[in-house]
Amino acid sequence: MARYTEAACRQCRREKLKLFLKGDRCYSDKCAFERRGYAPGQHGQARVRKVSDYAIQLREKQKVKRMYGMLEGQFRNYFFHAERIKGVTGESLLRLLECRLDNVIYRLGLANSRNQARQLVRHNHFLVNGKKVNIPSFQIRVNDVIAVKEKSRAVAAITDSLQAAVRRGVPGWLEMDQANFKGTVKALPDREAITMPIQEQLVVELYSK
Ligand code: SF4
Repeated sequence: MARYTEAACRQCRREKLKLFLKGDRCYSDKCAFERRGYAPGQHGQARVRKVSDYAIQLREKQKVKRMYGMLEGQFRNYFFHAERIKGVTGESLLRLLECRLDNVIYRLGLANSRNQARQLVRHNHFLVNGKKVNIPSFQIRVNDVIAVKEKSRAVAAITDSLQAAVRRGVPGWLEMDQANFKGTVKALPDREAITMPIQEQLVVELYSK
């Protein structure tokens, strides 16, 4: 499976935003963005030039893509899918990304980053409605129940994440039952439920050129 290999913290510094790609480290004083909140590279601290509309749209797309750990082709396919859904394309795009199984597992606190969630899914640690699912891009639906397999409940990555996730909280469209290692999708997320600083209309404008 292809994956993005640039150092995670460089991505945050490039986007000038904490993307929370490294789990616990993102909440500690080791966070590279907290220490060096400017773009990486030789010209990272150079004076900001006037940027074109295209550059602003491109940066926004890169930011969302990196937040969800997507490659360009995958992300573009989500956009095309969103375009075919009735309603506001930008919102549909965000909803499709939020409803990926790896993202839901991260949101439930069963992993400390989307990257880790993806790896745990691939390693067959979860059931959706009682059935094994090992596809990170699997789209969850309302009333789906995502559970940790019985024999995976002692996996350190999952138990540690559950403890650390208390400070993050679980979004209102999901419900987590920590004692039974399972979460339920109460509703699909609407735009208000996605609180990350994203201007999705810029992504739509970029791809609509
Ligand atoms: Fe980004 Fe900081 Fe996490 Fe690194 S530690 S991925 S800079 S939020």
